[in-house]
Amino acid sequence: MNLQNGAPDNRHDLIRVTGARENNLKNVTVSIPKKRLTVFTGVSGSGKSSLVFDTIAAESQRQLNETFTSFVRHRLPHYGQPDVDSLDNLSVAIVVDQKRLGGNVRSTVGTVTDIYSLLRLLYSRVGRPFVGYSNAFSFNDPHGMCPKCEGLGTVAAIDLERLIDRQKSLNEGAIRFPTFRPGEWRWKRYVCSGLFDNDKKLGEYTDEEWDTLLYKTDMKLKHPGPGWPPTSKYEGVIPRFERSFLTKESEEAKTRYKEELDRIVTRGACPLCKGARLNQEVLGCRINGKSIADCTAMQISELAPVIRAIDAPVAATMVDAIVERLEHLISVGLGYLSLNRETSTLSGGESQRVKMVRHLGSSLTDITYIFDEPSIGLHPHDVHRLNSLMKRLRDKGNTVLVVEHDPDVIAIADHVIDMGPEAGAKGGRIVYEGDLASLAASGTLTGTYLGRRPRLKTPPRQPSGSLVIGPASLHNLKDVSVRIPQGVMTVVTGVAGSGKSTLINKVLPRHYPEAVFIDQGAIQGSKRSNPATYTGMLDPIRELFARANRVSPTLFSFNSNGACPECKGLGVTYTDLAFMDPIVSRCEGCQGRRFTVEVLGYTLRGKSIDEVLEMSVADARTFFGEETIRTILERLGDVGLDYITLGQPLNTLSGGERQRLKLAAELERSGQIYVFDEPTTGLHLSDVDRLIGLLNRLVDNGSTVIVIEHNLDVISQADWIVDLGPGAGQEGGTVIFEGVPEQLIKHPHSLTGHYLKQHLH
Ligand code: ADP
Ligand code: ADP
Ligand code: ZN
Ligand code: ZN
Repeated sequence: MNLQNGAPDNRHDLIRVTGARENNLKNVTVSIPKKRLTVFTGVSGSGKSSLVFDTIAAESQRQLNETFTSFVRHRLPHYGQPDVDSLDNLSVAIVVDQKRLGGNVRSTVGTVTDIYSLLRLLYSRVGRPFVGYSNAFSFNDPHGMCPKCEGLGTVAAIDLERLIDRQKSLNEGAIRFPTFRPGEWRWKRYVCSGLFDNDKKLGEYTDEEWDTLLYKTDMKLKHPGPGWPPTSKYEGVIPRFERSFLTKESEEAKTRYKEELDRIVTRGACPLCKGARLNQEVLGCRINGKSIADCTAMQISELAPVIRAIDAPVAATMVDAIVERLEHLISVGLGYLSLNRETSTLSGGESQRVKMVRHLGSSLTDITYIFDEPSIGLHPHDVHRLNSLMKRLRDKGNTVLVVEHDPDVIAIADHVIDMGPEAGAKGGRIVYEGDLASLAASGTLTGTYLGRRPRLKTPPRQPSGSLVIGPASLHNLKDVSVRIPQGVMTVVTGVAGSGKSTLINKVLPRHYPEAVFIDQGAIQGSKRSNPATYTGMLDPIRELFARANRVSPTLFSFNSNGACPECKGLGVTYTDLAFMDPIVSRCEGCQGRRFTVEVLGYTLRGKSIDEVLEMSVADARTFFGEETIRTILERLGDVGLDYITLGQPLNTLSGGERQRLKLAAELERSGQIYVFDEPTTGLHLSDVDRLIGLLNRLVDNGSTVIVIEHNLDVISQADWIVDLGPGAGQEGGTVIFEGVPEQLIKHPHSLTGHYLKQHLH
């Protein structure tokens, strides 16, 4: 083995994998240098995840779990033993992936990075006036939380415009809610109060009448009308309504009137804490004029100097610790976030970088950190900062394993393991291992493509019209108006946090609701679906089986009595665990073959239905001559999914594979507006060309294509570019360039233009 930084000659300096056979792996034996940064490359489907996640990470987790007492073990996720002969010299593995952090409304960037608990400590020591222990600064603690919103920052509020029809009088039913309708008992309280002219339109009420109707409480009536219960007091519509429907005690009423309530109740900033989540006493505690909530509302890049300026000897170490973590967030390109941002609103790439910061603060060493395409969502400008953090983890004595396609990340590898040569059954081998320098000469796909440089597309297409978006001020957008040309491919660029997703994913559909988003998100009902059902290919296949065997086609359906009764055609059974991912195991009834013995006996040209479902797309293409089936199989091949099997459950596909499957269904349509958010995610450099070909095919069929991308090969092939920036968060949110790529590379301030120019041939 060839290592750049002095080859470790000791066997203990290697993680040794012997005979790995998970998924498509072909008895892989490989050594990975410890305390080094190893990048795993190879086309999508070549087996990188099968080796790194399904074998190495899974086995580390499993062995770790074995060390706990059985009491703890039963409460941990169960990992099956990966199919591998041996795995030696493994250290504890931590997977830093793109699974969204999720979490409830009480989970924020500040709480998950632990920066908030440090801030609490700081305020409890240095804040004036002193309000108590650090728990008092927690919005999740009864001592700290705002009593009105209980630490949520928002409260349920009544949308008056929806509740009240000002064109009507009380008698005509001005209060639009079932229990307040004319004749109902709550309505009687107002018409019998003697306070109002029951035939006067609410729009004509004086301010005083309006205030009485809506807000007065605890009022003794002087002249109640007949029908008013003698001892009771008057209460306005709003307080009455809140008491009945918005308090903790009103669960039953909430359920009963859920639909009507959803119509008129919205969540708005809490009127007491204005969204700060804390009680007034805590908010009064300040350092240099700022409350703890002022700090968490600031952009992290602006907060760092504010904390650094706190000059209190007792707090020096705390200040250092907070500043260090804030700087970690800034260096992974997240300086545009605020600590009070709810984690459930972060993207996958942002979530991954927040997780990374959690580990940077730790002083543990000899951990194996595993990253899954950490460059996702990052502009070339942001990638080198990510790189320096991964190197830092390595230099602290950890082993860093990275699955990645981005040449700028591959460039920092101490060691490269290239998998292939192709995907699926044609992959699963190590085609190169060694240092980066020799990779280029190795002749593998990765080596060949690493040195390639694109040219700009000339001339760009002429648009047929334009879509007009804006003016928009959502999130960080600063009154942005932009034209997107129709009938061409537009690439939207800019550093992470500049506002690309806000503009394209949130604002565009408000103007053009018909836009079709081809994203990496989950596909509905995907446990039961597979490529054959999703593309509609299974119907003609069932017909063929039925005709060949003179039986009913429904027998070959997953929801008929031809399906295995135990797993209902899934081939696997799921055991749900209360708080964890369910355990998946092969169905014992059918041994994973999905159908009854009778159905499995019917064949088509020598293959049973389960054997057909086990075929890869490529194999199926030689098996089926029938036109309808072939067309679908060809489109799947066109999007690079030759290696998936017809029956592979959609919930086992990666995000990139799901996106390409969705794309396959759109290839022949025309006149659409298509939006792609980072379609190169998960794609090898050699597949990016093919993707660009597919995007062009959509445009050539008469559609408008809009792509959010930081991949320079894709950017170079745009007909039109919209570049947002100049920076992230408050420093972003403006359009700094709109035009053809040739002009972009001449732009004096565009970071995208700068990197594109460097990348070109
Ligand atoms: P990569 O990470 O290089 O994209 P993977 O390791 O994810 O590749 O996949 C290698 C092969 O194994 C592919 O053919 C893929 O479809 C298949 N595969 C991966 N996970 C599963 C699974 N849970 N069930 C069946 N096949 C799978
Ligand atoms: P990009 O797509 O260019 O990475 P985004 O559109 O995701 O940028 O973000 C632009 C700005 O809007 C950032 O400051 C980000 O923190 C903010 N933002 C994005 N989504 C939300 C949200 N759900 N709530 C509050 N702020 C958001
Ligand atoms: Zn509040
Ligand atoms: Zn079964």
